[in-house]
Amino acid sequence: MPVPLLDVNAQNHPLEAELTAAFTSVLRSGRFILGEEVEAFEGECAAFIGAAHAVSMSSGTDALLAAFMAAGIGPGDEVLCPAFTFFATAGCIARTGATPVFCDVCPVTFNIDVTSAAERLTSRTKAIVPVHLFGQAAEMDAIGTFAAANNLQVIEDVAQSIGASYHGRGCGTLGEMGCFSFFPSKNLGGFGDGGLVTTGDPELAEKLRRIRNHGMHPRYYHATVGANFRMDALQCALLRVKLRHLGEYTAGRVANANDYIERLSALPGITAVGAGDGGLTARIVVPRAAAHMGHVWNQFTLRVPAAGDRDALKKHLTSRGIGCEIYYPVALHQQECFRHLPPHAIGACPVSEALTGEVLSIPVYPELRAPQRDEVVAAIAEWLEI
Ligand SMILES: *Cc1c(COP(=O)(O)O)cnc(C)c1O
Repeated sequence: MPVPLLDVNAQNHPLEAELTAAFTSVLRSGRFILGEEVEAFEGECAAFIGAAHAVSMSSGTDALLAAFMAAGIGPGDEVLCPAFTFFATAGCIARTGATPVFCDVCPVTFNIDVTSAAERLTSRTKAIVPVHLFGQAAEMDAIGTFAAANNLQVIEDVAQSIGASYHGRGCGTLGEMGCFSFFPSKNLGGFGDGGLVTTGDPELAEKLRRIRNHGMHPRYYHATVGANFRMDALQCALLRVKLRHLGEYTAGRVANANDYIERLSALPGITAVGAGDGGLTARIVVPRAAAHMGHVWNQFTLRVPAAGDRDALKKHLTSRGIGCEIYYPVALHQQECFRHLPPHAIGACPVSEALTGEVLSIPVYPELRAPQRDEVVAAIAEWLEI
């Protein structure tokens, strides 16, 4: 039986009646831009995340861009971000005219390493963007202390981590703003693009609302330049249906991840991250949720350290019909589009560089069934014996 990396139909098709009702309701209302559904979705997201304010946006990328615009980031500024993340984090910094300054990451959590960030701080550094990668929070206490000491804004990239927590506090409430994505592969996956910015500051929330609508206030008066970053009412209505199930979806991901951790760790040649020698002699290192993290497992990402092994495992799993993917094959400081940046912005990030050759994500989506997990574990066990 093939095991896809993600099966959006397994999640969405059981909701067909509810989704159809939501669609019909918007169709009949005739209100497609902003309005009631959008406000209701924002209120429900704010409550779920534990944020005072939530402003929906046309995508996670636009959420980041709007947040950077609201933070006043622009030409001459530098913004610290991890070298190991999805491109949008850094792409949006660059689009404001600011310089992304790439920091290395922790090999255990894959998240930004504050020591590396401190080394890259300059008088122009204005903000730091921790990314809660694969569903797990970055070390926000250390980041907060570092940011406060250096007068930096903290803008969280929560695209992969809606519902995740750090010491019991929700991701997206730990900095000035939190940026979320509803891309179909994210934990709250929509029917197209969508995004959201959370903030505890009512003035920032108002700024974000104006930025997403051409900086307009009042109607046809523009004191600042914004853009069209609006999320469709239809998308909001459909996602309100799915938001009601997000707790169950997260529980499914956590159960799948725990099952993998237990069964994979029992195989010879596999080490849980942080165990014993730190996995130096392991053929495969399985991820782990740190005790103070509420991990929501957007990805379950193995490390396969020996040269050539990761690609061999990927080939083996693919031959067995098991979906797997490399998130991410190139670190951002090594992307061609950033080659012109000043040397301190694109300095060596040895952990990020190593990870691009070691990581492999396997299926962990909530609807993954026990026999499918059996197949994944069996295929990995088979590869270890080859
Ligand atoms: C998906 C993602 C984004 C961008 O979200 P889109 O909705 O696809 O624009 C930004 N940052 C990270 C870390 C992501 O995973």
